[in-house]
Amino acid sequence: MVEPVAPLLQVEGLTKHFPVKRGVLRRTIGQVRAVDGVSFTIGAGETLGLVGESGCGKTTVGRSLLRLIEPTSGSIRIDGRDITRLSRAELRPFRRQMQIIFQDPFSSLNPRMRAGDIVGEPLKVHGVESKRERRSRVAQLFDRVGLRAAQMDAFPHQFSGGQRQRIGVARALALNPRLIVGDEPVSALDVSIQAQVINLLMDLQRELGLSYLFISHNLAVVEHISHRVAVMYLGRIVEHTDKVTLFTRPLHPYTEALLYAVPVPDPAIKRDKRVVQGDVPSPLNPPPGCHFHPRCPYAEARCKLEAPALREIEPAHFAACHLLNQ
Ligand code: SF4
Repeated sequence: MVEPVAPLLQVEGLTKHFPVKRGVLRRTIGQVRAVDGVSFTIGAGETLGLVGESGCGKTTVGRSLLRLIEPTSGSIRIDGRDITRLSRAELRPFRRQMQIIFQDPFSSLNPRMRAGDIVGEPLKVHGVESKRERRSRVAQLFDRVGLRAAQMDAFPHQFSGGQRQRIGVARALALNPRLIVGDEPVSALDVSIQAQVINLLMDLQRELGLSYLFISHNLAVVEHISHRVAVMYLGRIVEHTDKVTLFTRPLHPYTEALLYAVPVPDPAIKRDKRVVQGDVPSPLNPPPGCHFHPRCPYAEARCKLEAPALREIEPAHFAACHLLNQ
């Protein structure tokens, strides 16, 4: 019998709580439940879009995967190997395989370093000693992301926003990773430049077989680049399925609301009750039961008491809502 191949990334019950401390004695007075039991997989060459409003915990998920933030509980597996509790030294070979592209290409690049040194830094850290070898690899990377090798000696402020994000992409590619976490990687860019960077990421995926966790609050961007999409609300995944199904047949009231909140060009078109009202509540004191109940137009008494589990409602289509369990 052939053993099933493990997905590249498996995340199971990932939780991250941040203690809130007050007073001179810095006593813990509460926990911010930024991520609360999140599970998903990403296969080789696949993009999972992770979408939700600001403060829903999606950035914390991305950083926890790379262990830039230490998870409170749960597990993260690469090729079936649990990396959650590996020491820094044990983690090193896995770190090479997972890289991150940050939202703001300006603040994520050291303004005092030349672009070529920024891109070559991971090579240096991971033991490529020869300066010549590093420069040659950096020149290849510049070419690959649409920059000129002649620009390697320029400083970040001498590049446009889109070019700076290309430097970020080149840096992420330096160690031949298999998985890249894009943390709102195009949100700070003009719309026309966003499309160029997205297309670059998709080209790289086709050529190099990369996997992406693509984090964004922008549904249009997520729809373009993702194969599957997970929707997060206040630390939990509330819906998860393939892209086409999610955008044509959303099941969860929050996903429905997000889709209806996408701007409509004609002001005469009236919103209906599916448009979500109000802000995301604080994760320090989330509403009991279904976290979405204070904003949900379909909420019932039960929703305030019991948290709905994420269940497979249709084949490969998961949602967490009491209404769908009836
Ligand atoms: Fe709305 Fe209740 Fe479903 Fe939550 S469980 S999304 S409050 S209907």
